[in-house]
Amino acid sequence: MSDELFQVTHTKIQSFTRCRKQYWFSYVSGLDWPPSRDTPAAIVGKGVHRAMRVLCETGYPEDAEHELDVYMRMPKHELTGPGTEYHRLAFELLANGVAAHESIVSEDRYAELNTWVRSASRGITVRAAIDRADRLDAGHWLIIDWKTGRFDLDEIVDAQLDIGHLALRTSRKLQNDTRVTAIGWNLRSGVQRVRELTRDDAKKTVDYLANLAARLRTTEEFPATPGPQCTFCDWRDRCEEANDLERVELTWLDDDWERGAEPF
Ligand code: SF4
Repeated sequence: MSDELFQVTHTKIQSFTRCRKQYWFSYVSGLDWPPSRDTPAAIVGKGVHRAMRVLCETGYPEDAEHELDVYMRMPKHELTGPGTEYHRLAFELLANGVAAHESIVSEDRYAELNTWVRSASRGITVRAAIDRADRLDAGHWLIIDWKTGRFDLDEIVDAQLDIGHLALRTSRKLQNDTRVTAIGWNLRSGVQRVRELTRDDAKKTVDYLANLAARLRTTEEFPATPGPQCTFCDWRDRCEEANDLERVELTWLDDDWERGAEPF
């Protein structure tokens, strides 16, 4: 991978869109990243994703349950330990995940594909992580991004699936006419966000990402956009704008905004 290529990820794009100051902190400033906030919702999400990876690897629910059990019992995860509502929630989500797994009939499957797509002509490298990929048959693949929150924003799920599709198509060298069904599958609500994607869609995705990368590369102003997103921002302690808002007690956390701020 050449250092000259601009690295694009779903998270990077979302950060730029959400709050340019957050983007600056994370990708421009050169500051060391603060540790991620271990909120109960984040612990549940990570634990369930780990368990779903194990389930995909072995196919045995008991392996997945053991993975989740040990993770939730770790001393640093006492907020979500046995007896808490979050612990019960995690195992409910895993039970839904087991049912989802058993509903998929495929020739072969891959857990947590972590890969990149390099396009020297466009000057970008696209990094993507896919929770699960299944070869349904020779001409049809399935990719899944597991969701564990209360709800998902459709356009963000779509963008994530499109990048995952691009990564799968490239890393597995899929034939031009191979179809890919991409699903954002919420293990809490059961909602499935489904996209049917083709090779042409992948080309359009990489063109879009290259155009967006050109904009990210040349942006020089990074104003803060304080709002619900600050709740989960790892940089919040160092962000004057967010802390100023807290001091003057603006009541921006009304019902509608809370919904966007706290997806878990
Ligand atoms: S705390 Fe809020 S305003 Fe500050 S960088 Fe993070 S998201 Fe942006």
